[in-house]
Amino acid sequence: MSLQNMKEMLNRAKEDGYAVGAFNILDYNSMKAVVDAAEELRSPVIIQTSVKTVVFWGYDAVMSWARQLTENTSVPIAIHLDHCKDLEVIRICIESGWTSVMIDASSKPFEENVELTGRVLEMAKPNNISVEAELGAIVGVEDDIHVKEQDSHLADPEQAVEFCKKLPVDCFAPAIGTAHGVYKGEPKIAYDLIEEIAKRTGVPLALHGGTGLADEVFHKCIALGCAKVNISTQLKYAHINGFVDYFVANNIYNPLKPLQAQYDSLKTAVVQNIKLFGSQGKV
Ligand SMILES: [Zn+2]
Repeated sequence: MSLQNMKEMLNRAKEDGYAVGAFNILDYNSMKAVVDAAEELRSPVIIQTSVKTVVFWGYDAVMSWARQLTENTSVPIAIHLDHCKDLEVIRICIESGWTSVMIDASSKPFEENVELTGRVLEMAKPNNISVEAELGAIVGVEDDIHVKEQDSHLADPEQAVEFCKKLPVDCFAPAIGTAHGVYKGEPKIAYDLIEEIAKRTGVPLALHGGTGLADEVFHKCIALGCAKVNISTQLKYAHINGFVDYFVANNIYNPLKPLQAQYDSLKTAVVQNIKLFGSQGKV
């Protein structure tokens, strides 16, 4: 199945009460782990790429892995650009074959966020590319975006409604109390805000900062309207630990062995999340 955008898979997930995992990959090995896990569990999936990862390897390299890995798959798979502030990067991704992009103009004043997101929609829609946008400020570090605790703020529901009325985004990421990175202390999730925004906008919501949330928190957020769940930090740990643990235990200079262990550890993490989000067997 060829790569597709995330509109239909998210709308379906929202209607049916589950979420599609968006897994941040770092290289070919991690992308393969994501695709294989989804195929094995008959689940839709989103291959998510940070701007840093795309710049590190180059647009064409990342896209060639995605095309090759999804060539013979039979589940819906999207390739999505995570948090991007730069319209030029978004433009190149669209031209290179990405099927979905996120414009993150959440640090800008509301009107400017609306304007920039509108410009991305103009670039994306004629190419059948889905668009995710953010409102409010999600605390923590993601890619090159640092938001300190005192600067973070939840999305305003009135603004969220206005935003989604003006802009036909396919996925909406309001700040609802989750954080990027590793949680220090108990996260305070604004469930009532998720519920209100999901109901009033009708747009599938994205849950950012998924790593470290308890299973029941995921279930509650998904039931309230989060149809996309981002997992990044957990996969960074699996990526490093899968490789290092194998090497420390075996001390053999055969890189293919720890790379296999890294793949296994990544795939295990993706499988566990797909089951948790309820998308297993939905294809
Ligand atoms: Zn995020």
